[in-house]
Amino acid sequence: MSTLLAKNADLLVTMDDGRRELPDASLFARDGIIEQIGPTEQLPQNADVVLDMAGQIVLPGFVNTHHHLDQTLTRALPTGQNINLFPWLQAHYPIWARRTPEASRWSTLVGLAELASSGCTTVFDHTYVFQNGSRVDDQIAAARELGVRFHASRGSMSLGESQGGLPPDSCVEDEAQILDDSRRVIETYHDASHGSMTQIVLAPCSPFSVTPELLRESAELARSYGVHLHTHLCETFEEERFTLTHFQQRPVAWMETMGWLGDDVWFAHAVHVNDDEIRQFAKTGVGVAHCPCSNMRLASGISPVKKYLAAGVHVGLGVDGSASNDASNILLEARQALLLARLRMGLLPPEGPQTLLSTSDPLRRDEWMTAREALEIATRGGAAVLGRSDIGALAPGMCADFFSISLNTVDYAGALNDPVAATVFCAPQKARYTVINGRVVVEGGQITTVNMAPVIEAHNRFSRELVSSQLASAP
Ligand SMILES: [Zn+2]
Repeated sequence: MSTLLAKNADLLVTMDDGRRELPDASLFARDGIIEQIGPTEQLPQNADVVLDMAGQIVLPGFVNTHHHLDQTLTRALPTGQNINLFPWLQAHYPIWARRTPEASRWSTLVGLAELASSGCTTVFDHTYVFQNGSRVDDQIAAARELGVRFHASRGSMSLGESQGGLPPDSCVEDEAQILDDSRRVIETYHDASHGSMTQIVLAPCSPFSVTPELLRESAELARSYGVHLHTHLCETFEEERFTLTHFQQRPVAWMETMGWLGDDVWFAHAVHVNDDEIRQFAKTGVGVAHCPCSNMRLASGISPVKKYLAAGVHVGLGVDGSASNDASNILLEARQALLLARLRMGLLPPEGPQTLLSTSDPLRRDEWMTAREALEIATRGGAAVLGRSDIGALAPGMCADFFSISLNTVDYAGALNDPVAATVFCAPQKARYTVINGRVVVEGGQITTVNMAPVIEAHNRFSRELVSSQLASAP
């Protein structure tokens, strides 16, 4: 039994059912689960680990619902900087296929460290290139080493160029092998219990890189084990053209025929959807991982997040692959979600009689994304997308996952009339503390669980080798 007390927080944002924001508050946890939250003087004064949160705001740990951690190896790739999704993928696929098991460890640690130090405590990773001996196991071991709550995907690609897909044949896998390995990792790692640190998701990469058979069989397999399903969908117009050309259906209709609409499914991006498709998501319980930085970086478009929220669709935040962001900073992502929703509002007037109304007209009030809504997506929204009821809020019985930010800094000066809003409106800060499952993972902005310096060095050495050999072998 181990206890943890985080005491004297200037403000503790619970995101509980009452959305309480408690001044001068403390949190007491036992074995990774919160027991008490409340005024500092009413809580236990001691614990095995005591953290002084004076001068800080405490928030529930953020949930990242879409990422490709291995892409930290190819950030800012010179040949991938100024192109959209399809050529961007083609520039990266052969490089990613040469990732080694050791490089999987380094890239997972690097990506998770950046996420944890920006306040993220639960991460879903969508790795789908498994070549060169790389396995999901490498990533799960690294996540455990660092201490982040981890939902790993057994992602996949099976439709190579010669069969009409986008990835080169050398980057795709045999379908029987994919399904066998999916079964293996679910049986080895998937833990559905309260407070689970490791879960598995089946995640064929996209409609243009897997066969219809693999989509159907992955769904069947996932449902037989009760694990969730994930893929990229409605990210670009090219993808829409692909499903229209090959299947004579828009992407959402196509996925419906594959058995892929349900409350155990969430899609990354979901940018190019119409109102009927939004209603369909709401009706079937499909969730959305909103990745604003990546959508801007690749000029993919703007996801109608406010429409999703109004329709009752679960929306979480995703930093997306590090090569299309190129950050893994979840606070930055929350800020971009707010800004991009507002940009969309300015660019796209609502349909109907409101067309000529100013964005400040009271009739358009509900179109504004607020700072607290951005925080809601980052916490409770992400938890709902991943199908978890034990994270996303700070309350007795919930996981002890939270982070703190120092308030008395240059970056927040003048913003303390609303410190909660400051966490989204002001420049993204490093967490002072990040606690996951009751364990301190970040202290003073630094990772405490892993010595990151040699990891960064090895990661960068390998990244340079990987990219320079690719450039040398390019035609
Ligand atoms: Zn992605």
